[in-house]
Amino acid sequence: GVSYDLVIVANRLPVDRVENADGTRGWRTSPGGLVTAIEPVMRANHGVWIGWPGGTETDLEPFEHDGMSLAPMTMTPEEIEEFYEGFSNGTLWPLYHDVVGKPEYHREWWERYVSVNERFAEKAAGLAAKGATVWVHDYQLQLVPEMLRRIRPDLRIGFYLHIPFPPAELFQQLPWRRQLLEGLLGADLVGFQLPGGAQNFVRLVRQRVGHRTQSGTVFLPDGREVRAAAFPISIDAKGFEELARKPAVEKRVEAIRTALGNPKKIFLGVDRLDYTKGIYARLRAFAELMGEGHIDVEDAVFVQVAVPSREQVEQYRILRDDIDRLVGRINGDHGRIGRPAIHYLHNSYPREEMAAFYRLADVMVVTPYRDGMNLVAKEYVATRYEDDGALVLSEFAGAADELRQAWLVNPYDINGMKAALLEAYRADDRETTRRMRAMRRQVTQHDVVAWAEAFMTSLTDLDGDGPHST
Ligand code: UDP
Repeated sequence: GVSYDLVIVANRLPVDRVENADGTRGWRTSPGGLVTAIEPVMRANHGVWIGWPGGTETDLEPFEHDGMSLAPMTMTPEEIEEFYEGFSNGTLWPLYHDVVGKPEYHREWWERYVSVNERFAEKAAGLAAKGATVWVHDYQLQLVPEMLRRIRPDLRIGFYLHIPFPPAELFQQLPWRRQLLEGLLGADLVGFQLPGGAQNFVRLVRQRVGHRTQSGTVFLPDGREVRAAAFPISIDAKGFEELARKPAVEKRVEAIRTALGNPKKIFLGVDRLDYTKGIYARLRAFAELMGEGHIDVEDAVFVQVAVPSREQVEQYRILRDDIDRLVGRINGDHGRIGRPAIHYLHNSYPREEMAAFYRLADVMVVTPYRDGMNLVAKEYVATRYEDDGALVLSEFAGAADELRQAWLVNPYDINGMKAALLEAYRADDRETTRRMRAMRRQVTQHDVVAWAEAFMTSLTDLDGDGPHST
């Protein structure tokens, strides 16, 4: 069959199923930064992308879409339940996010994680040309690098973790900690969002697996070396700014503002409905400011977009109920006729509408307890081409490393969060401009294409006298 010089392996393919007007079924490229980043790399390298297209369709052949070669991985209902909802999102997700949610450890989930990872590795092995580069993505596929290397030692393998890599004290809980570390060590380069994640990984490898390490390098007994380093992910900054400048988006901004009743200021939150995002505490902080008379509902409202997420997982259903109740209570306490305090949208929106929301927001509130990066914070900054608007940002979001001029908050500290919200709300133009200008420079100069290039360059330069050999 056909073989490729670059193989992208990710849990999800970058497409969704759609029904065409004539009733036939087709595909639509899913919105999101990862496609934007990886598409140019795929084009330049004759690449293919392996992943699950969503759903339980069985006989799917490789196909071309939007100029990308896509190789679908099927998924049975048991695999979706145990590999995806179970081990990936019920075990690894909460464990890697500082156990903000409680991780569950089930042996059946683990076994399914192993078998699905094996299927991904076999698929990649079958599609990679001799000496090809394989780039494996994220927490669902941490065993793939080692499994793949066993079948195809000729390949150059990179792995990138999009979520945080936890401190050793938490990772230690995992009954299968050693297998996961060894899985990752199959790669030549393991990339993390932040330097702290790379350090956690190297320290664990030294302590738990016993390999010699030196700063960001692991030395394996067989002479192979594995590099661990940080590559903070970013967004299509130029694309978001262009979108924000579109007349259609500006029109939409005014239409929404009018529909909200022309409040003087608008607060905005945009998150997947996930317990790591800190939505509940943030809304409470806002409500207390209203209750104490610091913010009047005639002057300001809060728009909270909560994108439906992982609704088959129980913790997510409980969270949704909690937030539904809280929003109801806050609006009951502080709303007026025709003027709720919180406009709560349990829905997902296309990029244009997102850009309109960002343009509308005087105060953008991003307060996760832990987040690998948080692209929403960067997208907000990218759309503020007039250098206005205030960003309140959790210090526990990866983005806080780069967006130092935000109003940084500890989301566990409600009083601190209230103080920051109020400061951002009352800040004068000089202050918001000074901060936003610096943040916009950062986001514009470090976009997602630069991120992908940095990772790929690092991966291909590993041999010999490249900048990474020490
Ligand atoms: N997003 C979207 N529509 C929505 C809400 C969010 O397209 O209605 C996008 C948003 O623009 C961003 C992504 O979803 O690109 C969320 O990424 P982030 O890193 O903030 O959080 P994640 O969901 O990956 O944890």
